[in-house]
Amino acid sequence: MNIAFSGQTAEGAERDDAVETEEGAVHPIFASAPRSVSFNKLRKRLLRHVRQAIDDFGMLNGQKRWLIGLSGGKDSYGLLALLMDLKWRGLLPVELIACNLDQGQPNFPKHVLPDYLTSIGITHRIEYRDTYSIVKEKVPAGGTYCSLCSRLRRGNLYRIAREEGCDALVLGHHREDILETFFMNFFHGGRLAAMPAKLLNDEGDLFVMRPLAYAAEDDLAKFAAAMQFPIIPCDLCGSQDGLQRNAMKDMLAGIEAKMPGRKDAMLRALAHVNPSHLLDPKLFDFSGLNVTKPSQEAGNEESE
Ligand code: SF4
Repeated sequence: MNIAFSGQTAEGAERDDAVETEEGAVHPIFASAPRSVSFNKLRKRLLRHVRQAIDDFGMLNGQKRWLIGLSGGKDSYGLLALLMDLKWRGLLPVELIACNLDQGQPNFPKHVLPDYLTSIGITHRIEYRDTYSIVKEKVPAGGTYCSLCSRLRRGNLYRIAREEGCDALVLGHHREDILETFFMNFFHGGRLAAMPAKLLNDEGDLFVMRPLAYAAEDDLAKFAAAMQFPIIPCDLCGSQDGLQRNAMKDMLAGIEAKMPGRKDAMLRALAHVNPSHLLDPKLFDFSGLNVTKPSQEAGNEESE
């Protein structure tokens, strides 16, 4: 795995060339996007990160059809545009279907996503399932809805993916989502675990994949603003924000502000794990460690 998030490498330059095959050629979805150098750099950087994640995690291994979960937020819109662009350039040999699950939240603007998806000419499916009522009924007053709401949404998206003959559900989680999840598990869950870039579901019949795993949230926010995606606000459900996740977000933002580049460094660390320097005997056989050198030589070495 060779993650290079910032700066430009030879490999990155090759990838950029591949996403700019003809001078000025862009997917029609970018027709009204800015023509500025800065936007073009942003688009290429995001495409490069997506291609790198697809390569690193073998997201194309034998896969034919991807269901893209579209919430109406900036990240999933960005994911859709980037995947459509790669496919248009012949760099993503899978069929794409966009899917929004209308979960029955009050005032959900039902027309926004169908109108947008029709306008950009992507195959799509809009599914209505009132999981909002279930969540309201099951979650005690004052509780947060997100955990149950997400589980119900995931179950429905799996069902739709199967019905549509897809082999993968593709989601718009990005670098910050992965780091926040890592620190939530670290601080509150008592385990070292982030959010996988590629996962096989419990039933073993569908992959869940996150091609934006290397993409910075700030880049996706700028991309969404420049593309003028018709964003649907995420607070229609009335749920309180997850306090723990917000605390992690603030902590990471503070670290990045004081020491720029630390988020990329943290993500790189997640890709370079050394089990023998952690404390989990299930991951590394500490009991089975044996001296392999004659004692005289071993006595001359520093242990750490
Ligand atoms: S913010 Fe609302 S819609 Fe989103 S996961 Fe939480 S409860 Fe569900």
